[in-house]
Amino acid sequence: MKYYWVDLHLHTVLSPCGELEMGAREIVARAREAGLDVIAITDHNSCENFPAIAKLASGTPLVLPAIEVQTAEDIHVVTIFPEYSSALDFKNWLWLKMPPIKNDPDIFGYQVVVDSNDDILRMEETLLIQGAGYDVDTIVARANDHGAITILAHVDRPVFAYPAVLGPFPRDYPVDAIELSAHLDSEQADEWRKKYPSRVFIRSSDSHTLDTMSRANCSKMLLASPAFDELRMALHGEGGRRVSWPWG
Ligand SMILES: [Zn+2]
Ligand SMILES: [Zn+2]
Repeated sequence: MKYYWVDLHLHTVLSPCGELEMGAREIVARAREAGLDVIAITDHNSCENFPAIAKLASGTPLVLPAIEVQTAEDIHVVTIFPEYSSALDFKNWLWLKMPPIKNDPDIFGYQVVVDSNDDILRMEETLLIQGAGYDVDTIVARANDHGAITILAHVDRPVFAYPAVLGPFPRDYPVDAIELSAHLDSEQADEWRKKYPSRVFIRSSDSHTLDTMSRANCSKMLLASPAFDELRMALHGEGGRRVSWPWG
């Protein structure tokens, strides 16, 4: 086994808040330059730029289909799927209760679906940064049923985070990991570890620009190979796989 650098939270030009530099080719080039081994593409409430990025990367790095869901309570949950078909199934269920609010690019930014040449396939017209119509417990349960890895996103943030909206999360809340923001210092991060000693914490970049994609902003995991099932084992400390404490 060896250590791999894993960033499980990255936005693309599909997220209205993602900079237009976050195209498929640029993300793959930057991930390689930064020495990232595994990345998850976590646009808000959607996953449709995954195919272009996965095709370009062709395994270097491993690219995982994912969605950063915004729940009805405005809590962000990262859901990562073993294959694109299960991500799409989940997205279709999510969108059954997506409010029909249109994106205004002048206010929120463009929401662009691209191909592997960064040519525009379509613009997503429904606003992606809004709460879907399901509560957090329902979304986590449904994603788990789809075989997803589920992560409470940026729990340290004052908005869009479980603790900020609902207060402390149950110690046995049924997610695979708890994400902390990359900008925390080691003392701030340690506070979270002390509060939840039985949980596995990861650090993710939540990149909206290329310059925040780096080893310093993600997590190091001991794996037999870069693969979805290996990540799940590491998040649960199984078979010798593990997540290094990011602020070690
Ligand atoms: Zn978020
Ligand atoms: Zn995000």
